[in-house]
Amino acid sequence: MFKKGDKKSNEKNTKKVLVETYDAYKIPRSQHSISRNDIDDNALKVLYRLHNAGFRALLVGGGVRDLLLGLKPKDFDITTNATPEEVKALFRNCRLIGRRFRLAHILFGREIIEVATFRGHHDDDNGQDKQKVKQSQGGMLLRDNVYGSLEEDAERRDFTVNALYYDIADFSLYDFCGGMQDLAERKLTLIGDPEVRYREDPVRMLRAIRFAGKLDLEISAECAEPIRRLAPLLQDIPAARHFDEVIKLLLSGQGLDTYRLLKEYKLIQMLFPVLFKDGEDDKANSMIEQALKDSDQRIREGKRVTPAYIYAIMLWYPVEQRAHAISFESGMEYHDAFLLAMNEVLSIQVKTIAIPKRFTATIRDIWSLQLRLPRYGGKRAQRVYHHIKFRAAFDFLELRAKIEQSEELAELTAWWQEYQLHNELPQHDHSRKRNNRSTEQKPDDQNRAAKKPYKKRRYTKPAAKTSE
Ligand code: ATP
Ligand code: MG
Repeated sequence: MFKKGDKKSNEKNTKKVLVETYDAYKIPRSQHSISRNDIDDNALKVLYRLHNAGFRALLVGGGVRDLLLGLKPKDFDITTNATPEEVKALFRNCRLIGRRFRLAHILFGREIIEVATFRGHHDDDNGQDKQKVKQSQGGMLLRDNVYGSLEEDAERRDFTVNALYYDIADFSLYDFCGGMQDLAERKLTLIGDPEVRYREDPVRMLRAIRFAGKLDLEISAECAEPIRRLAPLLQDIPAARHFDEVIKLLLSGQGLDTYRLLKEYKLIQMLFPVLFKDGEDDKANSMIEQALKDSDQRIREGKRVTPAYIYAIMLWYPVEQRAHAISFESGMEYHDAFLLAMNEVLSIQVKTIAIPKRFTATIRDIWSLQLRLPRYGGKRAQRVYHHIKFRAAFDFLELRAKIEQSEELAELTAWWQEYQLHNELPQHDHSRKRNNRSTEQKPDDQNRAAKKPYKKRRYTKPAAKTSE
């Protein structure tokens, strides 16, 4: 599919590349829809500074792809013939990152504009490249820092739709790999031989699913075929990289569609080894689907979603099953077995996905509160209510009640619902407390104060599950 360029330069990292026009691949400004008005101001600043210093400067990747699809890009990636060091010399607010791929990050407050130097081909036998490229025995690229021309850079990218360039020099586009046609056909195609490209970097399988889910593109047959077969290669990916990928997969607004694709392509088990270990579990599946549907909705409404909640959902039934098994096998109290199961499941999970400690702490809180929510006698209700993760644990309980269609859980949810209506805000809600103290009482607060104290309803503790 990839055609060689008409005026290919052998010089690497040269400032003279302006002579390379690549006319055959050029789409002039009058024939495409991208306007500078759609491009982030900081990205434009970086593009112009590079351009004015005599370097090539082009927008590439999701920024170009999403604008062509009429979507708002998540971020703007820039590519240039300036080396990372040359980029650093141009920007005070720049830091160089990455070993596998050396990149420059230009910082504008919280916004980061990523600038990558054109990547080139490498010849394994070439001693010069040995420092810059490292490949595992299975063909996985461990390091890839050979720089090249714009055309070579296109070939090193993953999908054709991600290899479209917007040139700040004359606002034209470059399409070396047929990305425009694939966008028109809404097709996702890898550049080059799919199996080789997946072996080089197995995360490309996850990226295929992510773009298919997020952009509603169809994965071409030849790119879809190897995925189920090569899925186990994902086990070789560092757990830290998986953490970032999974967030992008499940918490970008199309989590439900993406999850279904991950399942269809047998990738979900590679990421969550304890999930569906003994075949698909309807309850777990319904709970995950419902939670992802809700979180997609929250994202559409601009609300916050937390990775910890989704992880707690994904792993809840495996923890419950394991707790029952431990308790059955050892005769241990269910509560103790549950704590053991929680630790066991999380320690298996973090080997695949490096979930940071602050999230595993929240996951544990949400789970262990499920055992405390049914026991609200005496002062217990108040203590649970004042737990910093009460709200998340309550939402979790409500979801369980819905999924399990359990009357007991529904009744418990209703009890807590009513309790919340009639009780003070939890003490940990500092901001609201402080506001209440510093301002005059609001009418709502007066009403609350006038209300009768809440009378506890009798509630029978659910049997079995939490007390075995
Ligand atoms: P988005 O930012 O919307 O999630 P993106 O396509 O911009 O999507 P990034 O991860 O920001 O994704 O990467 C920017 C570009 O870098 C990609 O479009 C692609 O051209 C290239 N790229 C990223 N990851 C890989 C990879 N694993 N293999 C080859 N090229 C990649
Ligand atoms: Mg991007």
